[in-house]
Amino acid sequence: MKLIIVGGVAGGASAAARARRVNEDAEIIMFERGEYVSFANCGLPYHIGKVIPERESLLVMTPEKLKGRANIDVRINSKVTSIDRKKKTVSVTNNKTGEKYTESYDKLILSTGSSPLRPPIPGADDPDVMILWTIPDMDKIIEKVQSGAKSAVVIGAGFIGVEVVENLVELGLKTTLVEMLPQVLPPLDKEMAQPISEIMEFHGVNLNLNNGVTEIKKNKDNSFSVKLKTGETVETDMVIMSAGIRPNSELAKDAGLKLNKRGGIVVNKQLQTNDTDIYAIGDVIEVNDLVLDEPTMVPLAGPANKQGRIVADNVFGKKLEYKGSQGTSICKIFEKTAAATGINEKRLKKEGIDYHKFYFTPNSHASYYPGGYMLFIKVLFDKSGKILGAQITGNDGVDKRIDLLATAIRKGLTFDDLEELELAYAPPYGAAKDPINFAGFVGNNILSGSSQVVYPDEIPENAYLLDIREPDEVLCGTIDGSVNIPLGKLRDSFDKLPKDKEIIVFCKVGARGYLAELILRANGFNVKNISGGYETWKLFYPGPSNCPTMVEQETEKAQTVALNSPKMPKVTLEINACGLQCPGPIVKVKENIEKINNGEVLYVKASDAGFLNDIPAWCNATGHTLVNVKSERGVVEALIQKGAEKNTDSMTAITKEVDGKKRTTIVLFSNDLDKALAAMIIASGFATLGHEVTIFFTFWGINVLRKNNPPRLKKDLLSRMFGFMMPRGAKKLALSKMHMMGMGTGMMKHVMKTKNINSLPELMKQAQELGVKFLICEMAMNMMGIQEDEVIDGVERAGVANFAALSEKSTTTLFI
Ligand code: FAD
Repeated sequence: MKLIIVGGVAGGASAAARARRVNEDAEIIMFERGEYVSFANCGLPYHIGKVIPERESLLVMTPEKLKGRANIDVRINSKVTSIDRKKKTVSVTNNKTGEKYTESYDKLILSTGSSPLRPPIPGADDPDVMILWTIPDMDKIIEKVQSGAKSAVVIGAGFIGVEVVENLVELGLKTTLVEMLPQVLPPLDKEMAQPISEIMEFHGVNLNLNNGVTEIKKNKDNSFSVKLKTGETVETDMVIMSAGIRPNSELAKDAGLKLNKRGGIVVNKQLQTNDTDIYAIGDVIEVNDLVLDEPTMVPLAGPANKQGRIVADNVFGKKLEYKGSQGTSICKIFEKTAAATGINEKRLKKEGIDYHKFYFTPNSHASYYPGGYMLFIKVLFDKSGKILGAQITGNDGVDKRIDLLATAIRKGLTFDDLEELELAYAPPYGAAKDPINFAGFVGNNILSGSSQVVYPDEIPENAYLLDIREPDEVLCGTIDGSVNIPLGKLRDSFDKLPKDKEIIVFCKVGARGYLAELILRANGFNVKNISGGYETWKLFYPGPSNCPTMVEQETEKAQTVALNSPKMPKVTLEINACGLQCPGPIVKVKENIEKINNGEVLYVKASDAGFLNDIPAWCNATGHTLVNVKSERGVVEALIQKGAEKNTDSMTAITKEVDGKKRTTIVLFSNDLDKALAAMIIASGFATLGHEVTIFFTFWGINVLRKNNPPRLKKDLLSRMFGFMMPRGAKKLALSKMHMMGMGTGMMKHVMKTKNINSLPELMKQAQELGVKFLICEMAMNMMGIQEDEVIDGVERAGVANFAALSEKSTTTLFI
């Protein structure tokens, strides 16, 4: 038997190795047009980011090793250019020498894979616009980075695109990601991809969703100007295209093998083409969709490797079947992981298939054991309870849960089966009732009708929204228009609830909401529970984040280091607030600090990034001492000494310093010219008296800080309208009285000039030079859609907590 394999990476190399194990005597030749065989293409992004430091680690096998170990004749740089099915020969061209020859076969396996697409955008075919598919592609990107590239634009937010982005950011490149769809990672549904968008933005990625590239222009210095659909142009040192793939099926097409509409080779269950001596595997073939039982294409390494094994057995006489693919995939993006299996909701809708779904947000492991993170899980199923698909995003434990759900789909497990699964448990790894057992409970509750859920985007307009969380939790945010009655008080509050309206109940993750739902239904109310609770609602309606980005965190970190005591005091109480969202950890700190005595120390660990910003402000405001705070790989750790002023030397020093200073705080609420002028004059006056002066610009006051000619920024419609309607900076303000269509304001400016009084921008500059600190209210910025780049230099962003902390220490606070 003479077996020829075309393509020497995932599927091809796997088929060759298995073929040798099945048959010691066969002649096996593997042709690969590239220079490398059996390399770890999935590892390429990580060598770029230096996570895999050694290039050699990617070269899983070499032609020499394959020859020595498996007696496989590997011919690299050898492109198979045609197949003569009648003569059963292939024509081969050596890319290096130009030598052409034919080779006969008894059986032929095609594992020619796929290639990245270059969409028809002007400039996309420039050879300096890079792709990442092979080792040489990777080398080229690394070379570009090493030659000093400081920025990159990645086009396409599929798995490879986001992996490339992560690794470039880790190398310190300013990275822009452009994606035509309104979400990253298309195998996920939009809401499930939301945490991934957030973590990318948190790490400073310039994320452009719902946007496209219209032109890539190479500049004289070899940099690029990338024009976006929305009009802006991104200047960048390099462009990487990751905008989809197409199967490498020209060879099969020219040989008359049957292809589908997308160019995939059609094979039977034994992976045989319409020529019984030719088999095909991997990215290039059409497979059966395991869930929908219809043809599809699934370009992933797992299926290619498994098909390689099956096909080798079949070549030597077995009749093994490849039952189908379900698209189980997983991807790491900074601290987060996203994974999917089966069919997503978008596709179910598109195919018109009836389905149900639920969301739930369990902890990745027992909440009392440190380091647990919230998992966002979505399960799609039909009315018989058959699981159609699942998606998970989270920081930890995503992989094992998606694999269990993938197993459930492949083996047709029911929700009963999931309930019964006995899964490994100890607190660091899971819970006695693992999230997957919970998936069974929730699924069965919905199937049996004992729970009726509603999804965040389907809440009826006139429904009565009932938030049954504790008041402290409500402080962290709630759904507009909801009424808060904590679960414990629900039975005493029936008289406050409407009987003639549908009640939509919700808690944080859906579990307490279910209990409330049962109580209310048993008492005659018409009620539904929001699937996955408030945390899932936020996936649909994310809103602006109050938490600082990584860059802001670094600044904050630098500031808080000064507060660190050289001698770390002994910890009295430790709490783990990981998994709690902004400002949940603060609430937990507040509860626990009450349990310790003055001078004792509380250690807190939180996964909520905003905690790094909140905790210094909270400590300042409450009189506790932040002894130390640090953030590493998404976990913030803080040491807080309770009311510790009297107890440590270091603190006394800080307190004395604090007490020795006079502070004045001005809240500038208005954007009237006269009021802004007064604020600046008063601020400068106090500064000259030796006060530490801070002006907190909030609401209309933030307009005083706007640049006259801001850069063009990406904004939603409302923010653009706000920006348009409000005065753009100090030069554009009007008098509160006597503005008289600009005449009064003009006169005032004239008078100021003739009397040698500085203009507002000059007064602002002067105040800053005198050390007056300008703080801009974060909340007002978010509300009005004002971005940092629109604001003049030397302004710090601050939340109300920061301002409250300052005000607490001030001798004078003025509101203008
Ligand atoms: P390939 O492994 O691509 O091999 C095809 C080979 O055939 C190529 O080397 C090509 O040069 C050769 N060839 C084509 N035509 C000819 C010809 N005429 N003559 C000779 N040789 C020819 N999948 C995952 O499941 N998880 C991941 O994390 C993941 N990450 C990835 C990251 C990157 C950067 C890339 C590029 C892919 C990733 N994939 C991942 C996809 C996965 O690598 C592919 O699905 C898998 O390699 C497909 O195997 P294959 O054998 O069909 O094709």
